[in-house]
Amino acid sequence: MSGSPFSLLLTRRAVVILGAAVAAPALVLAGLGIFLTLRVAGAIENESLRYNSYMALQVGEAFEQELMAQMRRSITAAETAARTDGTHDQIMAALHAGTGEFIAPEIVPLDQLTGFSLLIVESQPLVFAPATSPTNGSYFSGLLLRDGRGQVVGAGGWWLDPRRFLAEHLNAVVQDRLPANPRLYGGFESTRRLSIQLLAPDGSEIGRVRGAGNRKTARVEYLSGPFERYAVRVAPTSSSAVVWATNFVSLEIAFIGLLGLALVVATVFGLRYTVRQLQLAQIKSGFVSNVTHELKTPIALIRLAVETLEMRRVNTPEEYQMFIGTIGRETMRLSQLVDNILDFARLEAGRRTFQFETVDMVGVTREAVETFRPRLEHQGFRVELDLPAELPPVRGDAIALSHCLLNLLDNAVKYSRTQREIRVAAGTRGTPGEPGYEVRVSVADRGIGIEPEDQKRVFEKFVRLETGLVHNVKGAGLGLSLVDQIVRAHEGRVEVESKPGEGSTFTIVLPAASGAAQARLESSRKTGS
Ligand code: ADP
Repeated sequence: MSGSPFSLLLTRRAVVILGAAVAAPALVLAGLGIFLTLRVAGAIENESLRYNSYMALQVGEAFEQELMAQMRRSITAAETAARTDGTHDQIMAALHAGTGEFIAPEIVPLDQLTGFSLLIVESQPLVFAPATSPTNGSYFSGLLLRDGRGQVVGAGGWWLDPRRFLAEHLNAVVQDRLPANPRLYGGFESTRRLSIQLLAPDGSEIGRVRGAGNRKTARVEYLSGPFERYAVRVAPTSSSAVVWATNFVSLEIAFIGLLGLALVVATVFGLRYTVRQLQLAQIKSGFVSNVTHELKTPIALIRLAVETLEMRRVNTPEEYQMFIGTIGRETMRLSQLVDNILDFARLEAGRRTFQFETVDMVGVTREAVETFRPRLEHQGFRVELDLPAELPPVRGDAIALSHCLLNLLDNAVKYSRTQREIRVAAGTRGTPGEPGYEVRVSVADRGIGIEPEDQKRVFEKFVRLETGLVHNVKGAGLGLSLVDQIVRAHEGRVEVESKPGEGSTFTIVLPAASGAAQARLESSRKTGS
């Protein structure tokens, strides 16, 4: 390719450094943004966890208070009986009267209280113990009874089914008792945004107030006293600030991530575009200098020949012929170059039209080689023309196809060194009348050859190889791109076979035309038209 690869490499490196200088800080900032957002989210979640844990303990306490309140309401008669030194039966009768929602009243004498537990609820001792039978989940819950002298005589109370009690009092506890607690942090408002769920020892749900919006910051705390082994789970509802915040954080991280991604994609595309533009700029300037050289060389040679002839410095008829030959050859070279440039400009602008007709490739090839022969012979090339008597016709533009062959011949001359041999051959492949039947015309040289990895690239516009096989030949890098585009417009393809140092064969492959076209060609061959 034209243009200094070293300077292109430098510019490319500069562009990449520039892109990295823009993208890297932006990515670091995006990463920092994500990190800080996660830190904030973490802090909010921790705060919520602590609060939910605190609320779960408050709920537990509220149940104990509720139990105490219910018992106080029912035990007054029994306390009075004990204080007035009533008999066991009298106290039991009073307990029976206040049974209410409790099961089976019982008095535990002082000497039997040792196996019982004590819980202080609102500065009052609550005596409790589980039922001895493991299948019976009831708990004894009682208050201390004193005689007339103020001496504790035992505990009086009832058996209680914790599950039933918790289920029945859940609403009252959450809606009345909990918000009424003057020490409650956050007050009534905060409890409205909490989901409170009671869990039995087997993990099943006993009841709940409001559904949880998010389990992430839910906290489970075990209750105590007669409710031990039961648990309360507190979680934020979907309308709570923490759920909003966590959702918002995920959204924010997604936004930052997308922004970072968009930035990287934009930078990569921007860089690629800039590098491509730089390449194009370099290709264009290389193209202009190549074309200028290509135009100047034949013009200088023609001028020299004309001046020599004008000054009559020619001594022999051979010399005269030589100068005339130079003018002819260089004019042809010039016109081929101008044709290439014009064709290229038309193809680029989409204005190149082809006159499709039935074409005999034997004729076209023979004519192209004959046109080119003076130049070939002048440069000492041996040309082998291997054409069959006839070929199936193709649909095409004869002038454009001849132009393609001239370009291939021109390259064969330009890229040959000491082995000056060119072979032009034609033939067919496939079965007549069947799809895939094709006409092939090839131009083979024994020149410098093309490296395998470059064999596709040579068909790109402005591409000129700077291979290790040094060649000082000038060119515009248009020839093969034109051949390729023209042949494609004919629904054909150009194949290349090449070995570096051994030579190249370029083959124009065109689909053979239909039977009707064949008939037309036959008749025109007969009439000679
Ligand atoms: P140009 O000949 O003007 O440079 P082309 O498009 O005809 O442009 O060819 C592109 C490149 O392909 C050439 O610069 C050359 O490196 C390589 N090339 C083309 N034909 C041959 C050939 N017959 N043998 C070796 N290399 C070739």
